[in-house]
Amino acid sequence: MTRFPEIKPIRRGGAEPKVLDCDVCVLGSGAAGLSAALEAGALGESVVLADAAPQVGGQAISAALGTLCGLYGNGPQPLRLVHGVMDGMIHELIAAGEAAPRRARNTVILDYAIDAWQRWAERAVVAAGVTPLLGAVLREVERGGTRVTALAFATRFGEVRVQARAFVDASGDAVIPWLSDLEMNTADEPIYGTVMAMFERVDTDACADWPRSTYHEAMKRRGAEFGLVRFDGFIFPVGDGRVNLNLTHIETPLDAVGLALAGIEGKRQVDALLALFREEFPEAYGRARVAHYGQAGIRQTRTIVGTRRLTVEAVRNGAVPDDRVLRCSWPIELHTTPETTHWEMFDEDHLHYLPFGAMTPKGLDNVVVAGRCIDAEPAALASVRVMGPCFAMGRAAAEAVHQVEAGSLHQLDMAALQARLADNLTETTRDPWLERSVGESGPEAYGAG
Ligand SMILES: Cc1cc2nc3c(=O)[nH]c(=O)nc-3n(C[C@H](O)[C@H](O)[C@H](O)COP(=O)(O)OP(=O)(O)OC[C@H]3O[C@@H](n4cnc5c(N)ncnc54)[C@H](O)[C@@H]3O)c2cc1C
Repeated sequence: MTRFPEIKPIRRGGAEPKVLDCDVCVLGSGAAGLSAALEAGALGESVVLADAAPQVGGQAISAALGTLCGLYGNGPQPLRLVHGVMDGMIHELIAAGEAAPRRARNTVILDYAIDAWQRWAERAVVAAGVTPLLGAVLREVERGGTRVTALAFATRFGEVRVQARAFVDASGDAVIPWLSDLEMNTADEPIYGTVMAMFERVDTDACADWPRSTYHEAMKRRGAEFGLVRFDGFIFPVGDGRVNLNLTHIETPLDAVGLALAGIEGKRQVDALLALFREEFPEAYGRARVAHYGQAGIRQTRTIVGTRRLTVEAVRNGAVPDDRVLRCSWPIELHTTPETTHWEMFDEDHLHYLPFGAMTPKGLDNVVVAGRCIDAEPAALASVRVMGPCFAMGRAAAEAVHQVEAGSLHQLDMAALQARLADNLTETTRDPWLERSVGESGPEAYGAG
C-alpha cells in the first residue's frame, strides 16, 4: 500500500543566518555580473553570485531585450571589441541558430533568443562552480574600515550572510556603496526606461519592407488618441510571425512602489501600441497579440563616485586614459524625453575607452563596480551601458579582484591588469559570421539599447 506522509512538527526557533564564505561575491547577475562571476570562477576564485531576482540573467532576461549591442566597432566590417568567457555563449547561440548578427547603426548587433541566453547562463554558472544565491535582496553591508567584510541578504527562507575577500557590485544601482552611505550621483532629470514587448501572429511578410518611419508616422499622428507617450523607437521581426518592440518610455524611480507602477504603465503603452497597429495596419497586425511583456527596463539610475569619471568629452574625443580597461564605439543613446531618443553616432574608426577608476568607488578598497552604475556623466554612461561593454567591465572587475587578492583595488598594477585584458584593448578580430550579416538587413536596419 502507498505510504502517505505523516505530519512532522517544525518551528523556526532561534535560526541563525545561513553563512556563505567565498573569495569573491558578485552582486547582480546581468550582463556585467554574469561575466564577472564566470571570469572570476575561471580564474580559480570561489564565487557567490547573488541576485534579488529568482533567476540568473538580469535585464538581458527580465527586461526581454533580445539584442546584444556594443560587441563590435563601427563600419562595414567592424572589429570585435569584447572578448572573454561570454564568447562561449555567443559562439554556442550562433551555432545553434539562437543568435544572429544584424547590421544596425553602422555596426553589428546580435539578436538573441532570451531563453537560450538564460539556459546558457545557468549551465555556465553550474559548470564554473559558481554558487547562485537567487531571490536574495541585499539589505546590509558589513564593513571594517574601508573594506567590506560581508553582505547580508533577505531571502524568502531567511537571512543569508556572504563573507568574501572582494565584492563586485553589478547591481545596476550601485547598492553596495549606497548602503555603505557613500556619496553617489544621479542624473538631474529622468532617464527613461522602457517596457519591451513581443507581438506574435504578425504577418511579417506583409511588413518586412516597411521602414521604421511607417510606424513612427502613425504613432505621431494617432499616438495621443491611443495614450502613447513615445513616438520613436524600434520594432523588428524575430521570426515565426513575431516582432520585438522597444517603443515605450517610463520613468524608473528608485522606489519599489514607483517602479511597480511604472512597469504597469509600460504595459499599458504596449497595449495601446497593439490597438493602434491593429487599426492602422490590419494587413500585418490584424491578428496580432502580445506574446510577452518585459519587466520595467531600467537604463540608468544611480552611479558611484569613483576615482575617475567617464565624461562626454572623453567619449566624443576618444580619449585614451592610462587606466583604460575596455573599448567601445556605441553611440550616445540618451533617453531624456518621453517622446524621443537622442542619438549621437560615431565614425567608422571611432573608439572610446573606459578608465578603471570609473569602476572603483572612493572609500572602499575591495569593491569594484561593473555595468550601468559606474562613475560617468549621464550622457557618457549612455554610450557604454549596453551589454557588450558590460561584459568587458565584468571581466575587468574579475581580473582586478583576482590580481589584488587582499590588497586595495586602488593600488593595483595597472600594466599587469591591462596585459591580462589585452584582447579587449587592442585585438583586431573580425568574426567570420559577420559576412553573413552584411547586406541582409538593408538601410533601415536599426537597434537600440
Ligand atoms: C529597455 C531597455 C532596452 C535595452 N536594450 C538593449 C539592447 O538591445 N542591447 C544591449 O546590449 N543593451 C540594451 N540595454 C542596456 C542593458 O540592458 C543594460 O544597460 C544592461 O542590462 C546593464 O547590465 P548590468 O549587468 O549592469 O545590470 P542589470 O542587467 O540591470 O542587472 C542588475 C542585477 O542586479 C540585481 N540587483 C539590483 N539590486 C539588487 C539588490 N539590492 N539585491 C540583490 N540584487 C540586486 C537585479 O535584480 C539585476 O538582476 C537596454 C536597456 C533597457 C532598459
